[in-house]
Parts: sequence; structure tokens; C-alpha cells
Amino acid sequence: MTTGIWILGDQLWRGQAALRQCDLSDTPVILIESLARARVRPYHRQKLTLIWSAMRHFARELEESGAAVTYVRQADDFEVPLNRWIEANDVDELWVMEPSDRPFGDLIENLQLPIAIRRIPNNHFIWSRAEFQNWAESRKRLVMEDFYRQGRRRFGVLMNGDEPAGGRWNFDRENRKPPKNLPDRPSPPHFEPDDITREVMERVRELPFPLYGSLDDFGWAVTRDGARAVLEYFLDECLPTFGPYQDAMVTGEETMWHGLISPYLNLGLLQPLEVVRAAQEAYRTRDLPLNSVEGFVRQVLGWREYMAGIYGWVDEEYFQSNWFGHDRPLPDFFWDGSKTDMNCLRQVLSQVERRGYAHHIQRLMVLANFALISGISPQAVEDWFHAAFVDAYDWVMQPNAIGMGLFADGGLLATKPYAASANYIDRMSDYCRGCGYDRGDRTGERACPFNFFYWDFLARHRDKLKSLGRMNLMLANLDRIDPEELDAIAEKAADWHRNSRG
Ligand code: SF4
Repeated sequence: MTTGIWILGDQLWRGQAALRQCDLSDTPVILIESLARARVRPYHRQKLTLIWSAMRHFARELEESGAAVTYVRQADDFEVPLNRWIEANDVDELWVMEPSDRPFGDLIENLQLPIAIRRIPNNHFIWSRAEFQNWAESRKRLVMEDFYRQGRRRFGVLMNGDEPAGGRWNFDRENRKPPKNLPDRPSPPHFEPDDITREVMERVRELPFPLYGSLDDFGWAVTRDGARAVLEYFLDECLPTFGPYQDAMVTGEETMWHGLISPYLNLGLLQPLEVVRAAQEAYRTRDLPLNSVEGFVRQVLGWREYMAGIYGWVDEEYFQSNWFGHDRPLPDFFWDGSKTDMNCLRQVLSQVERRGYAHHIQRLMVLANFALISGISPQAVEDWFHAAFVDAYDWVMQPNAIGMGLFADGGLLATKPYAASANYIDRMSDYCRGCGYDRGDRTGERACPFNFFYWDFLARHRDKLKSLGRMNLMLANLDRIDPEELDAIAEKAADWHRNSRG
């Protein structure tokens, strides 16, 4: 009986559930680059390069350790190379670790192969799907904070016995400083492309279908050693200051004190518990501020695991949710940031084109916020997020975009929509200072679109928002605007859509 293992592009670690159960010296292994997958949406060129280069490096590592690796470059699809490999290696049973993304699970289900596929439960996350399900079934509401505290207790992270370190679970209040009098920012690590990466870049440049973004600044790590170096860099240079300024946005500062480790976590080059433990160890041995370490642990042990858990928990209809009934198309400028004169959007979108990356507040409070208040279809927005970011996968983007960013699920995941006017962007960034729009105006010639869209959003959905309870303060402010001004606001919003102005 010969067992063979198919390793998917986001399962690049020796400890993944299928690989770790086999003796690599007598288990054939296959990795396949599929052009059909690359065509699903106009992905960022850096994302394709990162995945394919990381796959090629991982295959080489496996080979060097004695495994019989078949690496298929640029196949049209998976089925033909899998069939050939099964026949050539007399494989009787094919193992694959359960994909994190449901569409990939469906693809596997529909493959025409002569042998059975055994799907090994995924160990890519700290919580397995079954464990999250047990937790969710015991709750009335699936609140992230409850899940996060359970995770801290369960894995003994930042705990003093049964109590949280520092006597509090949450240091968010200390972690929302605006970008004023900022300390010097570290330069993010840049990895010069090696021969393997350059070869992939050449190929990606030549692909004959639409893609997005620039490859010019490609500097991502493509190996586990590189990813470990990024983690060490984050712990040394960024984590001490990460907390207070994690929500701040500054023109020309693409990364601030953010770790840029999500692409590596999502490929399997780093493991989430490894990263959480490393942050905890740094807190203990390097005397780091607790608010910074807790803020980071919250992102990985809290939000990341919670998003993955929710994705596995909901049914297929969740992905088509549209609580507000928003159906506007995605403006063209999302694909070309130079086409908008809103400086906040232009800055963030041009950064995404250059790097395939923006930090969580740029994503949530600039991009998703604009999409939410201007009434763009949640599915169109999710699709764009999935295409545009190097760390985007179905499991993370569906709950992040549909649930958190656009509140299209009506509140399964968040207790109120993350909707904001120019006030928030002005407080947390320097973008408004370089903008032709007036951040204080909502109806005049130079009124900021974030302002008229925000108030129009509240007015259009007043009844739904009232039912949430947590929007009452905002609705009380809405009630103070006189009806004539509200009409003018609605006219400005309609006029913007009529002219598709950016
Ligand atoms: Fe963005 Fe409005 Fe500020 Fe311009 S004024 S940067 S459009 S929030």
C-alpha cells in the first residue's frame, strides 16, 4: 500500500497534519502550481509570487531531507498532474490536509481520480474546528472577547494563575494613540529575491490573464528561516511600541510598528501558537510593555482564531449575507488608487498596489468603512479584498469583510457597524491635511465624501441601526441635523454615485 501526500500552497510546514504522520523517506509527495486557481480572480502579482516561490522553496527543503518530491509548475489544473503522479508512483491512497478554504474543499470533492482521497483534519490553527464548535455551542452569543479570554486561559497566555497578567484582559484604551510626536519608526525587513523568486516573478509578469498590483517592490520572505527572521525583527524592533500606535496611519509609512507576519502565518511558514509564545516570552524576558504584548496576542490568539472559527461555524448562506441590502458596484479606483482624489483612499490603495499590504485600521476604517457607508455590495468588496492582499484567503476574508468590515451579517460577529465620518480618519491619520476635501464639511462643494456618506448611511438605515442598541448615540446626533440638511446630504451622496466620482 503506497500513501502519497498532496501539499497545498498554504500548508508549507513539516508539522502539517498529513506530513507529520508519514515517514518521508518512503512517501511520495506532490505540490502543484495551478493556473486555473490563479485565474479565479485578479490576484495581486506579489501574492502569486509569494505563494509559488514559497512552495518551490519548501519543495526543495523536503527534497534535501530525502523526500521523493514531485513539483509541477504552471499546470492548467490539478487533476491531470495528480492522475499522472498517482499512476507513476503506484499511489493507492492520497492524503491531503483538509483545506482551510471551503472552495478548495469543493474542488477536491469534485476531482476525478482513480483512488480515494483521505482528508486529514487541519492543524493550521490553535483551535481545531471541532473545538471551536464545542465552544460556540455552549454560548448564547459568539463574542470575540469571551473566546479570546477562553484562549488565554486554555493556553496559559499572559496569565497569573486564573487572573490575566496586569489584572486586566484588555488594554485597548492604551492602544489607540493618534500619530502625534511619534518615535522613530523601524524600516520593515526586505528580502532581495533569490534565483527561485526571480524566476517566479518573470513567469507572473508574463501570465496572459488580468492580475493586480506591482511586483517592483517584492521583498517578502519565502522560507521558514526568512519568516522566523521577520518574527525576531518584530519582537526586537516593533513590539515595544506596537500597542499604542497600532491604529495610527501616516502618509508614506506603510508598516509603522506592525509585524507583517500574517502572510507567513497564513502560508504555514510560522505557526500561530509559536508566535504567541514568542511574544509572551519576550514580555517575560525583555520587560516589554504589557499593553503592546496583549494587543498583539489579541490579534493572533483572539481575532485570527476567532475568524477561522466563525468561518468553519457558519453555513454557506453566510457568505451571501447583505443585511443592509447594499448593491452598488465597486468603484474603479479600488483597482487604481490614482483615480480617486480622496487622499485617505488614494494613499491606502496605492500602498496596496505597491505591497499587497495595509494594516488592520487602513483596511477596516478607510477601505471597508468607505465601502460600507457608500453602499457597495459586500460580496464585491470581499472579492476585492481577497484579490488585493497577499495574506488574503477565503477563511479570513469572508468573516473579516462580510462580518466585521461591512456588517452584512447583521451582527453575528460585531455588535455594531464600524462606520465613521472624516472625524475618525482625521484623528488617527495625517491624510486629511493633504486632501482637497474639507474634513469639516458635509454638504458644501468640497464636503468630504466620508461625511455625507456617513450621515446618509445612518439616515437610510435608521430603523435597523436602532435595533442594535449600541448606535443610539450616533442616531441621537443624526436627529439633531435638520431635515433640509439631511436632504442635502442625501443629494450629495446620490450625486457622487451618479457621477461615479472618486
Ligand atoms: Fe479622506 Fe475626507 Fe480626510 Fe480627504 S478629508 S483624507 S476624503 S477623510
